[in-house]
Order: sequence, then structure tokens, then C-alpha cells
Amino acid sequence: MRDIMRQFDSLNLHAPSSPEYQAFKYTRLVCAGCHWEFPSSYTLSLIGAIDGNTRIVLGATPGYVELGRNGTCTKCGSTESFLAYQRYEPSSISQADVDAIRQYWRHLGKLRWSKTGKITAICDCCNEYVSRVGTYFFDDRLECETCTDKQFADGVNKLRGNPFYYGATELQRARSFAKLHPGTT
Ligand SMILES: [Zn+2]
Ligand SMILES: [Zn+2]
Repeated sequence: MRDIMRQFDSLNLHAPSSPEYQAFKYTRLVCAGCHWEFPSSYTLSLIGAIDGNTRIVLGATPGYVELGRNGTCTKCGSTESFLAYQRYEPSSISQADVDAIRQYWRHLGKLRWSKTGKITAICDCCNEYVSRVGTYFFDDRLECETCTDKQFADGVNKLRGNPFYYGATELQRARSFAKLHPGTT
């Protein structure tokens, strides 16, 4: 992994805005044994960006030092892992993808309401009260229709410029979601 990163950097083949570069930047490291997706602190540790002496690592999960040292999964002991690499061709991205992400977030919003059992909530963006109808949940935030409209304004271009604009895995998840729930609005 460390070598791949170094090679990738030194080759300098791809411009930072290229689909290859972006795909690599958002690559995920998955254990080959238990399929656990390692937290980003693990990946950083493995490429030598952080170690046990790094004092403050935001969101670091215990075990990253171990993985960085010997590449062993702290859950199952496997020493093999693979990189999940998702490359999107900008021309393959359409309004349907933007709609899919929106519907996916809407779906998460509905789940959120049913889980909390609350009757009212506040939009994490504009602080207005929101109702069960027309709320969106993503990245641990609940947002109202108006704020979500703003997020998705010019969505196709945002997504073509950066397929990970709405999150590292949102496009992938939203596409799967749209397949499972065709015609959801
Ligand atoms: Zn494992
Ligand atoms: Zn709002």
C-alpha cells in the first residue's frame, strides 16, 4: 500500500482533477479476511502518514498503530487487504445520479424519523423546524427541503467535477439504491 502510494505520487501521471486521481484519493482499504473497511486512520498509518507518536488524530480508532506496523487486521488477524477503487467517467454521470443521491438521502431521512420516534426536528443547516415530510439525512445531518435544494443546485456539474462531491461512497450507494427502488420519488 505504501509503495503503491509512493509510486502513484512519483509517477505524476494523473492531474489532480483527473478521474484516476480522484478515485485513488477516495480509495478504501478493505480487509480480505473479514471484509471490514478499515477506518481512515488505519490507511494513514499504513502509508506512514501517522504513527503511535502522533498525538491527536481525529476519529482515530484503536488498532491503527498495529496495522501500520505489521499490516495485520485487528479484527480477524488477516494480513491481506485489498483496495476498493472506484473510478467514474464524468460522462457517465447524469441528472439521474443526482436524483438518486437525493432519493437515497430522503430514504435515510425517513429511516431516521422512524428510529428516533420524534415528532419535530430542526434543520442542521438553517435551524428551521422541519417536519417528517421532506427531510434529508446524510453525513449525520438532517436537512430541510430548501437547504437540500441548494445542495443539489447544479448537482450534475458538481458531481462531474468530483464524483465524490457528496461523499466518498454516496454515488455508489445511491446507484445501488436506485436499482433496488426504481421509480422512488
Ligand atoms: Zn479482518
Ligand atoms: Zn434548512
